[in-house]
Amino acid sequence: MIIGKSQKEIGKMRAAGQLVGQVLLELRNLVEPGMTTLEVNDAADRMIRDAGAYPTFKGYNGFPFSICASVNEQVVHGFPSTYELQEGDIFSIDVGVTLDGFVGDTATTIPVGTVSEERLKLIRVAEECLELAIAQCRVGNHVGDIGWAIQSYAEAHGYSIVREYVGHGIGRRMHEDPQIPNYGKPGKGPKIKKGYVFAIEPMINLGSQHTKTLPDGWTVVTVDGQPSAHVEHTVAVTEEGPEILTLIERGAPLVTEMVASGY
Ligand code: MG
Repeated sequence: MIIGKSQKEIGKMRAAGQLVGQVLLELRNLVEPGMTTLEVNDAADRMIRDAGAYPTFKGYNGFPFSICASVNEQVVHGFPSTYELQEGDIFSIDVGVTLDGFVGDTATTIPVGTVSEERLKLIRVAEECLELAIAQCRVGNHVGDIGWAIQSYAEAHGYSIVREYVGHGIGRRMHEDPQIPNYGKPGKGPKIKKGYVFAIEPMINLGSQHTKTLPDGWTVVTVDGQPSAHVEHTVAVTEEGPEILTLIERGAPLVTEMVASGY
């Protein structure tokens, strides 16, 4: 069952979205060669808790960390570790917060230092896929339109689409109906209505689409070892069109400023 949200509920999701978006932006600014992914995790955990929110991933189905940290051929759900980020890596951070009973979920893939043009292009196309997908989050469209926007654009650039992991509805729980695959057919799937809130998250591989899970039970990697990019926003469907709840405008307050102002 897809749970539509009221204006008031979307207001709360906007607050969660702005917090998690700002957390991700500040993490992005921290990342540099030599930093461990565990240090990034700990910085995220501190920021989220200082803001009076909870890092939604921590303990979710037993996931032991506050962010997913997926480097290079890791697709999603990577464990933060003592691995030191290297010049040329691409590093996906996925982070969620629960604030006032609602969840915001967002991810980005960050080039660490100087990165090859091949990898930069993979990230850029993933970001463009996300933009095109968000543009489909309109009343009267179908969930298949979102997937098709992602699939057609990524495949036109010679990339492949991860099939095993998908976007999702989001609200009081991180994962609600519907599932939102990163592939699909125009006009198919559930009809999109006002008040729906989706976490849209393309996962795009440089090589083949196939993935496997490492023995830790969580970390998903590409079978061929080629890099993967993952980006995500939480998006509300309004009468006027999509509203990206996790998008941070230039000049938005820092997490510390949000906390001080009692947002
Ligand atoms: Mg998600």
